[in-house]
Amino acid sequence: MDPALSPAGRRAAAIARHLAAGALPAPPPLAAAAALLGPSPCLSYAPPESAENAPAFPPTELRALLDGHHLMERDWVFRVMEESQLFCPRQRGGGSRVFVAPDYNDGKEAQREATMRRVAHLAQRGVFRGWLTEPGAEAELRKLALLECLGVYDHSLAIKIGVHFFLWGSAIKFLGTKRHHDKWLLATENYDVKGCFAMTELGHGSNVRGIETIATYDSKAREFIINTPCESAQKYWIGGAANHATHTIVFSQLHINGKNEGVHAFVAQIRDEDGNVLPNIHIADCGHKIGLNGVDNGRIWFQNIRVPRENLLNLVADVLPNGQYVSVIDDPDQRFAAFLSPLTLGRVNIAVNSVYISKVGLAIAVRYGLSRRAFSLTPDGPEMLLLDYPSHQRRLLPLLAKVCLMSSAGNFMKKMYVKRTPEMSKAIHIYSSALKATLTWQNMITLQECREACGGQGLKTENRIGIFKAEFDVQSTFEGDNNVLMQQVSKALYAEFLAAQKKKKPFKGLGLEHLNGPSPVIPDKLTSSILRSSKFQMDLYCLRERDLLKQFTEDVSIHLAQGKSREKALMLSYQLAEDLARAFTERTILQIFLADEMNVPSGSLKEVLLLLRSLYVMVSIDESASFLRYGYLSLDNVVSVRKEVLKLCSELRHHALAVVSSFGIPDAFLSPLAFDWIEANALSTGSH
Ligand SMILES: Cc1cc2nc3c(=O)[nH]c(=O)nc-3n(C[C@H](O)[C@H](O)[C@H](O)COP(=O)(O)OP(=O)(O)OC[C@H]3O[C@@H](n4cnc5c(N)ncnc54)[C@H](O)[C@@H]3O)c2cc1C
Repeated sequence: MDPALSPAGRRAAAIARHLAAGALPAPPPLAAAAALLGPSPCLSYAPPESAENAPAFPPTELRALLDGHHLMERDWVFRVMEESQLFCPRQRGGGSRVFVAPDYNDGKEAQREATMRRVAHLAQRGVFRGWLTEPGAEAELRKLALLECLGVYDHSLAIKIGVHFFLWGSAIKFLGTKRHHDKWLLATENYDVKGCFAMTELGHGSNVRGIETIATYDSKAREFIINTPCESAQKYWIGGAANHATHTIVFSQLHINGKNEGVHAFVAQIRDEDGNVLPNIHIADCGHKIGLNGVDNGRIWFQNIRVPRENLLNLVADVLPNGQYVSVIDDPDQRFAAFLSPLTLGRVNIAVNSVYISKVGLAIAVRYGLSRRAFSLTPDGPEMLLLDYPSHQRRLLPLLAKVCLMSSAGNFMKKMYVKRTPEMSKAIHIYSSALKATLTWQNMITLQECREACGGQGLKTENRIGIFKAEFDVQSTFEGDNNVLMQQVSKALYAEFLAAQKKKKPFKGLGLEHLNGPSPVIPDKLTSSILRSSKFQMDLYCLRERDLLKQFTEDVSIHLAQGKSREKALMLSYQLAEDLARAFTERTILQIFLADEMNVPSGSLKEVLLLLRSLYVMVSIDESASFLRYGYLSLDNVVSVRKEVLKLCSELRHHALAVVSSFGIPDAFLSPLAFDWIEANALSTGSH
């Protein structure tokens, strides 16, 4: 190679060599062809670590903050997966570098069986020990940490396990009583039964109250007769139903002596021990999906099947042998809400899992951006590293900031959930709804940007980011559609506002205490130091939230005054509702991160946390029209914010590698693109 050649000249020479090779009559064997190319490639790969400064802070400390809990257990379960052939280890990129990922070339049936074999292996390695039977917050946090890591390997694996433990298992545990616990909890933990959770129907998803499956009580036989009365009542999307599940939770309307008591949950067996579908149960596949093909989603029809009276999950309500209906909760709305409680754990898990996936995408894209060059600024100058382009920094680094703040929020949510008391139910529902929606939406935005930041390489399945987009898209829909969840957040805030006004009591909880004080004042002129101060950032977010809550309430009351129903009035005010739910969530995320930041002693890590936090806030202002629309900031101020975004990006650029290194994701779970991507694509490695 002639070192005097310009980059363009080098490329032309490489193309000429390539064309010359293409002119050979028959392709030579790979090893021989590789030898023809010569030992030195046109470009050489330099690992990001070789050119970047040493981290200004210990990445292990940031990891401890972001992972929040059970770091050793996470590392252990990552190793369990790396060590097993079932997780498809592949050597790529020379040396001993090995990557693990499912084989997406497999058809859906093969993917489903591979998922099940992995589940069996994890069970045998003791990963699920205590998941349903060990009490206490510590055990619950451990379980959540392990499932997050399993999801980094494959979404299907996490969902297959999640449906079994978090939906079926949680329903038995939290809606059932001793007789159900004795019969099914340990059996579930040991996989003696395989559970699924049949709530959704073809005709009703988000609107669970509208489901049409009917369970009629037969007091003579002391049994419930469960029936699918019409096609729209078929259970749809039920994870595990198509191939493997032996039992299901069936959500259905409970009819007693002609009276509908509303939606209740029952246990029904759907397959025998040999996997045969039981009589009067019909099961069909949901077919190939855009992702998650390692999960056997199915449809179920019940043809007047009979289950014993004891199979009603009766913590909340029961039917006595004589057919008398009894419930510890009188209010039907509250009773219905109690039946949806098993979904909360799944929602928490989905939120935190989506953050981990964003971290994988960002770790790959940032590492690639620190090793990939494109174009030179001068005719003979070196090509520029992607991450040295300010535009590339603007694309990736705000996402890095967001994922760090969202990690803190996820940890807060988990720790709140595992210490729950009945009084905390409302807050947990609101936080988990807001965070599930926001974090999963953000994950999709992050993956798309990371995919594009990797150019064409982002589309290769082995580089993970592209396939993740299809695999994780469903997170915005299942276990609560994101739009519907955000509506519930704004409705709940509206109810809080009305209650505080009516009772003439100060706001308490949900971080709304700021509404009890005077309205914050935003300085006219925003300097860099003001923009980075936590006081300004919280003041601005609180100002927006309190104003939107007031505006939303006023808008709803105008509709009410015009004679509209409460539901209709809330529906018509949806624009303000959306802005309010977003304002609440962003303020919550900032507040949680600030609490974490305060616990970090002064030093380099704290300085980086300040950069991350400030970039999170500046970008959220830059990207949201609401600050200008409602006049919280002047035109001059938003211009200052935009300039600050640029400055923060260029400062954070120096810490980008250290931040992604602190995500704690083992190299094997990233992709060849994050390492020596030239070697990984050498002719000698063949096609992949
Ligand atoms: C891969 C996969 C796995 C699943 N696994 C399971 C499972 O194991 N068990 C189970 O029971 N279910 C499962 N589901 C079902 C899932 O929970 C539902 O798809 C989800 O609840 C949404 O319901 P839906 O699809 O009927 O959409 P709909 O509720 O019909 O929503 C369609 C659209 O209408 C909008 N919309 C709905 N209501 C309103 C409103 N009030 N105001 C404004 N807009 C509204 C929504 O935002 C959405 O965009 C799974 C789904 C998928 C795709």
